[in-house]
Amino acid sequence: MPIYERASNDVRDLVNRTMELYHGPLHDVETRVDVLLATPKLNKKGIPTGPAVKYHGKKCAAVIRTVSYKDRVKGAGDLEITIDEEWWMAHDEEQRIALLDHELTHREPKLDKNGAVKTDDLGRPKFVRIDHDFEFGWFATTALRHGKLSVEVEQARQMIESERWQNCIQRFLPGLEPIDVARSEATATRVLPSDWKQWPIDELGEFGLSVGKVKLLSAEFGTMGKLMESLAKAEEPGFWCKAVKGLGENGYAALTEAIAAMRKARPAFAAADGDKGNW
Ligand SMILES: [Zn+2]
Repeated sequence: MPIYERASNDVRDLVNRTMELYHGPLHDVETRVDVLLATPKLNKKGIPTGPAVKYHGKKCAAVIRTVSYKDRVKGAGDLEITIDEEWWMAHDEEQRIALLDHELTHREPKLDKNGAVKTDDLGRPKFVRIDHDFEFGWFATTALRHGKLSVEVEQARQMIESERWQNCIQRFLPGLEPIDVARSEATATRVLPSDWKQWPIDELGEFGLSVGKVKLLSAEFGTMGKLMESLAKAEEPGFWCKAVKGLGENGYAALTEAIAAMRKARPAFAAADGDKGNW
């Protein structure tokens, strides 16, 4: 059993900021997150007896779990994130935010069939677990032996060919550089395509959409064309904004404001498809 301590207010503030930036639905239901920092116990020789944080038996940077009803009654939060203290100390704030974003992505409020948040007998939100978009086990030996017949290669190909992966990789190439580096270089020599459908969603940042929402929508849609196409197909805004992971109603409102502002300022975009009068 590792040694746990309750994280300081700074860490908890960072969790709440990350939730507000990227996880509208969790923020909207005022999710309370407890945060623990873990360090491994040392043996008599001062050697760690095991990893501080494990997932499926393997060392990892952090894990999240839903707090039980009984523990909530005793005063605990709704979710609990446990972080490897050594990892935390070795990474800067942006990396920490990325880790917290990952952990928070593993939970969404549980909704009933009318879209209302389900609650426990304390009135606190219930949650559903969200699995990774991509996850697979890779045995190099099996992959080498069977090539494209192996599940290893099959799954890798599905991942590489998927739109979500492509959206991400196109934005991070070359060399998986941080998004902000790629972005500042892009804006330095930026020439926008004449067809607004090819514009990156970053453009909405110029019209007041937060960095968090821009990143989230970019990962989901990639271009303004795809985004507007999806909005145009939506039967109703409430359903659309729930289908976009992490957006939430406040995020949706911010998006429609940014789109309206972009319409006013950019003639090329003014007649964008998807106009039902309410977007
Ligand atoms: Zn994960």
